[in-house]
Amino acid sequence: MNYIEQTMQILKHHNCPTDSNFFQAVREVLESIEPVVSSKKQYLDNNIINRLIMPNKEIKFKITWLNDNNKIETNIGYRIQFNNALGPYKGGTRFHQDVTFDTFKFLGFEQTFKNALTGQHIGGAKGGADFSPKGRSQFEVMKFCQAYMTELYNSIGEDVDIIGGDIGVGSQEIGYLYGQYKKLTNSNSSIITSKPISLGGSLGRKEATGYGVIYFTETMLCDILNESLSGKICSVSGAGNVAIHAIEKLYALGAKPVTCSDSKGSIYDKNGIDLELLKDIKLNKRESLTLYANKVKDAVYVSRDDDKNYIWSIPVFAAFPCATQNELNLDAAKLLVKNNTTIIAEGANMPSTNEAIKYIQENDIHFAPAKAANAGGVAVSVMEMSQNISFNYYDFEKIDKKLESIMRNIYTNISQTAKAYDKEHNLVD
Ligand code: GLU
Repeated sequence: MNYIEQTMQILKHHNCPTDSNFFQAVREVLESIEPVVSSKKQYLDNNIINRLIMPNKEIKFKITWLNDNNKIETNIGYRIQFNNALGPYKGGTRFHQDVTFDTFKFLGFEQTFKNALTGQHIGGAKGGADFSPKGRSQFEVMKFCQAYMTELYNSIGEDVDIIGGDIGVGSQEIGYLYGQYKKLTNSNSSIITSKPISLGGSLGRKEATGYGVIYFTETMLCDILNESLSGKICSVSGAGNVAIHAIEKLYALGAKPVTCSDSKGSIYDKNGIDLELLKDIKLNKRESLTLYANKVKDAVYVSRDDDKNYIWSIPVFAAFPCATQNELNLDAAKLLVKNNTTIIAEGANMPSTNEAIKYIQENDIHFAPAKAANAGGVAVSVMEMSQNISFNYYDFEKIDKKLESIMRNIYTNISQTAKAYDKEHNLVD
């Protein structure tokens, strides 16, 4: 049996048979690094691969809190401290009703590689809870966040594990989490990033993941095709922080983003997504995208139940999956290939299935994998940590310039590595 199957067997032995996202993420990496493993004996001799695929610590805790009807609710919280070889654990927090241990193992594993690619000294982690802030009152969200932090605060610290935001955890939730940490510990240490500016957050943090994906793509297009995004039609999925800021940067570079989506359906607006309207619907009102279709007469709305791949059927130059894991499957990849898409760049974590990635690569579409392309968010989180510790705060331009240079460096680094292994343009490997 080859090392990939052997390692997968060990992984399955130590985890639940249902941990499919985690297995998918690990298999992709094992297949990618095969040439390195076979050329350097010490990786297997010293058990490096098995040490890399097992989380250092898996924390699971009960969260008990009182809802607006004075009823006690319980949720499950998780924190996977995956790897701290390079520095303190660092990674976001996701609040979503569907998460399990599997979700955080896969995200913590991905985060370890992503964080390493930024060139900063941080390890990888991820956490969250099976609680969705959607449809909850402000007061319930606050009480839940306080209860979550009460259970977690002992396991984190500014040189141990620094948490951040992710799906369902924006600056409001971060503010509540941080407030509770301060109360419990009587300290202001930098244990959380993506804070509101008034609590020590960094300018440029909320834009960072979305802008970073576009900086990465622009660098890649220029290097491979001597092309740019200017004047190009693009599709973006999602309507959260990553998608909104990817759309914003696409406009800034002269491109035309024509789609977005949420958990219920997708919008195609041939005139280009109305960014101010999208921000108002999603960031201020927290409403469904059906509202967008009601307000913009040319916009087409297709519900996920009618066609979950509608967004990928729109012919575009560049496609940016910025919603969630496994949103781009083999059928979606076929649509993108059929429409001669030039480049696909991942803004979400693991948005493409392994089958989709294989098909995309076999058909010579340029592909920017999430571990590299969406590393901008965590990179600026580390800038936030360093500003907090030094009490020296930077303006937006300085952070944005540094973000751009980190994204360019990641591209240069991985494209040169691909060349060194005779895999030119294969950025997944
Ligand atoms: N959730 C983001 C990610 O997936 C950012 C994490 C952080 O800032 O810690 O990289």
